[in-house]
Amino acid sequence: MRKPFIAANWKMNTDSQYAVELASGLEKAIADVKGVNVAVCPPFVYLQSVAKSLSVDGNVAVGSQDVYFESNGAFTGEISCEMLKDVCCSYVITGHSERRHVIGESDELINKKTIAALEAGIKPILCIGELLEEREADKTSQVCERQLREGLKGISEEQLAEVTIAYEPVWAIGTGKTATSQQAQEVHEFVRGVIADLYSKNAADNIIIQYGGSAKPKNTKELMSCKDVDGLLVGGAGLKVDSFSEMVKIT
Ligand code: 13P
Repeated sequence: MRKPFIAANWKMNTDSQYAVELASGLEKAIADVKGVNVAVCPPFVYLQSVAKSLSVDGNVAVGSQDVYFESNGAFTGEISCEMLKDVCCSYVITGHSERRHVIGESDELINKKTIAALEAGIKPILCIGELLEEREADKTSQVCERQLREGLKGISEEQLAEVTIAYEPVWAIGTGKTATSQQAQEVHEFVRGVIADLYSKNAADNIIIQYGGSAKPKNTKELMSCKDVDGLLVGGAGLKVDSFSEMVKIT
């Protein structure tokens, strides 16, 4: 039985005060919710204050939006897994489409970051997803399969148990265009098939696959009712206590 997992990716939003208000407001709003894993992913600079504002035994975990694969040294501007652990981060997003397509991260770099997280004991949320032109050229499966195979290279089945996959069609991110539940289900089922092929049926049955891309309270129920959709990675709707807590409750 897969436990639903819903995470908010705040991206480059909030300020120090709002970040803490949002996290603690969310914790309060979902204090009674059971049976769902919840995480918030603030910008690096607010990770520590957000983590401190949450109770240790509460039901909101903290994740980072990125990480560098080296542990320390001359890597100006970068943040290591050890630093993330030091500020109580338990998750890290790797391979978000904005890092792939805006910053230019390669599959190889994303793989190194995912491995570094696992080695440090931080759970990676590995994002995959096709561009609009790739969907239109019928290349969705091909792109997602490549991103999965490359992103998971060198990761053992035991380590895979700590990995979440997030399917985020790039054309649905921040555009208000959600993938239909059928489009999401199709890719999620395909992803599970690739995992079965790379690892085992058991690994495929157990891996959590989130959907991301204009997920909001209105479409949460429909998306979550898909057989292979186990959770959501939420951008815009994760920036308000009301909408995100509503999604958590529906999930
Ligand atoms: P939106 O929910 O704003 O479309 O963003 C999705 C996303 O990129 C989450 O990582």
